[in-house]
Amino acid sequence: MKQWILCAAVLATACAGQTDAPANSPAQTQPAAGSPAPAAGAANASAQRAVPVNAPAPAAAPAQPATAKYPSAELAALCGKKADDIRRQYGRKLKVVVHPPFVIAGDMSEAKLDSHAKWSVVRPARAMWTAYFDKKPDKVITTLLFAGADNYKLHARKDYPSGGAPYYGYYTPARRTMVMNINTGGGTLVHELTHALIVYDFPNPPTWFNEGLASLHEQCQVAEAGITGLPNWRLPALQGAIKAKTLRPLAELVTRRDFYGPLQGINYAQARYFVMYMQHKGLLVKFYRYFREHAKGDDADVRAVEHIFGRKISDIEPAFLAWVMTLKFER
Ligand SMILES: [Zn+2]
Repeated sequence: MKQWILCAAVLATACAGQTDAPANSPAQTQPAAGSPAPAAGAANASAQRAVPVNAPAPAAAPAQPATAKYPSAELAALCGKKADDIRRQYGRKLKVVVHPPFVIAGDMSEAKLDSHAKWSVVRPARAMWTAYFDKKPDKVITTLLFAGADNYKLHARKDYPSGGAPYYGYYTPARRTMVMNINTGGGTLVHELTHALIVYDFPNPPTWFNEGLASLHEQCQVAEAGITGLPNWRLPALQGAIKAKTLRPLAELVTRRDFYGPLQGINYAQARYFVMYMQHKGLLVKFYRYFREHAKGDDADVRAVEHIFGRKISDIEPAFLAWVMTLKFER
């Protein structure tokens, strides 16, 4: 089962070993200016396990091109069927709302559920499609939200029979299902949503980029025109590593396929903030589109970075690190 579960993996170095949420977890998704407040959201993406995201390829193709009518009647029907299945399986325990391609079920009131669906699934997805992903899912993506640890753990036991379910939530690509303790906030949900959507547009993205982009969205501002990552709880560990001169070179992060190895906590932080640095320089969308087409072959990652920046990666790095040290995150 383990290899079929993706997660928001991972504790920042500073939190290594914790099983509980850090106190005062930050709000994760924020509405665009002028929008009503989102469902209360807070969270750190963190889970105890992770597997290479490009290992279990979910059924990602053929996706629906952006030009086709979306959602198709077939997809809408599949969503209706999935909603019926959930109602049959869970009865009154879960409410269900449908926003194709998403079927979202939860153990809270329908109004509350719909608010979570809107703020942590539908709007971020729309923003990601606008900003990055040209192809949309042609299959149902299911989200199960539990308002508290007890019901979440009860459900998670099915996927983690030996225990050790991630604290906040997880995604199973084979079933295209996200499972969350939504009381920990919406950030992990948007992280996992990024994984769930990217594969339809960019199959098998290199892990550093997949996790970097997903982590960027843990704390973000969502608008019609796109989604903007903001500083989050992963910053202090990264700044600490930069100060201590223990951070490995960027070229290593993007070329060595060891993201989930012993350095995974700091890898998440380094990848997140490098992706955020591209966003800061106005290069992230360009990078995404270029990398999607040129991600194959040795050194493809470094070549893509250097192509978009127009500089050697060793020249980009000092400016990136200096920029990270200017950032501030307050819990
Ligand atoms: Zn992840």
